[in-house]
Amino acid sequence: MAEIGHGGKKIVERILEPKEAAKKIKGLTEIPIRSQIANEVIDLAYGWFTPLQGFMGKADADAVCRSTQLADGTVWSIPIIFDMTESEISEYGIKEGGTVLLTYQDNPMAIFEIDEIWDYNMEDMCNCIYGTAEQKHPGVVRTCGYKEKFLGGKITLVNRPTINPPYGPYFIPPLEMRKKFKEKAWQAVVVHQTRNVPHTGHEWLMKGAWAQAYGGLPIKEPLCGVLVNAIIGAKRKGDYIDEAIILCQDELRKSGYFGDHNHLTSLTFWDMRYAGPKEAVFHACIRVNLGLTHHMYGRDHAGVGDYYDPYEAHELLQSIPREKLNITPVYSMNWLYCPHCGEITSEGLCSHKKEWQKFSGTLIRSIVQDGVKPPRLIFRPEVFDLVMECAEKYGFGSPFVTDEYLENRTPVFSIPPLGA
Ligand SMILES: [Zn+2]
Repeated sequence: MAEIGHGGKKIVERILEPKEAAKKIKGLTEIPIRSQIANEVIDLAYGWFTPLQGFMGKADADAVCRSTQLADGTVWSIPIIFDMTESEISEYGIKEGGTVLLTYQDNPMAIFEIDEIWDYNMEDMCNCIYGTAEQKHPGVVRTCGYKEKFLGGKITLVNRPTINPPYGPYFIPPLEMRKKFKEKAWQAVVVHQTRNVPHTGHEWLMKGAWAQAYGGLPIKEPLCGVLVNAIIGAKRKGDYIDEAIILCQDELRKSGYFGDHNHLTSLTFWDMRYAGPKEAVFHACIRVNLGLTHHMYGRDHAGVGDYYDPYEAHELLQSIPREKLNITPVYSMNWLYCPHCGEITSEGLCSHKKEWQKFSGTLIRSIVQDGVKPPRLIFRPEVFDLVMECAEKYGFGSPFVTDEYLENRTPVFSIPPLGA
């Protein structure tokens, strides 16, 4: 039976086997792509972006901007577009109806069948997606950095990426993910999207969301899971390094704070746009494709600075009918440490407001930076030790992204020579 994803469409999988790929790519013009586009090619080919089969044409991108949907009415909130300069287009001899080979890291990656060459007012696009065209907004910088022309059309992967250590076990595309959920017999699965190493506040966010998603399911056997889905893409200096994020999230399961019966860690390749509410809807679409039933949203999901009201994403999500976006949002209040209760509690539960010690990102970072093991109620010792190990092993001495890391890190995936 076909697996049905977002918009009621079959999960897209556009991947050729090596022999067929070798035949199909003969004689095609090669066009190198940058990492953001390579990430999106993977998302398209493996179905993360179902129902999209390739980069958008103008009608879809315009509908996304104007009304948060594709031209056919499917909910969608972020344009997935392929850019090129006018001079590149003439240099490569690109024409509508033509086919080219996208290469990454000097190796063949995907066939691109170009249906349409189009352009757009980018300030207009920024205002629609981000609610601003200010160059201080990192998403605006990314969108305005696109070259002046766009190419729309289907892509087909000709060469599967090699996922480099330690990420291999965490690359679980939609069809595989759905199989895993069936094996685990999870009837509800809630996703925790993260770009963080977890402190106990995060752990309890997940535990709280697990209970919310569990709802009225029978308790004879555990039937509900938490999927950690780390967003892996462009890094900014000072972010946690990817290796630490993914391994430390999984450590919560390995060390028993969760278990195989209720916890799984995975990744999605995506360069964050920080589009707040629009990005929250986009995240919901890709999580529907991964087979999730519930999606956690905290305050200011995928926001940046003070561009969005902390609950604007919740309002947008609530305005979309479930038959158009088939996932249940789970809104989470903050968890904190209350010395009076002697435990981690929720701001919705405890009344010792004056005694609350909130988890501040800055405080946790300074603890990690100093390398002094914090109390286990705040930071799990196994997780803390692993952050330190990751700093040494992958981060050139730091758990946070540095220039040295950006220059010398091992890429998350590599495209091998075809047939290798
Ligand atoms: Zn209390």
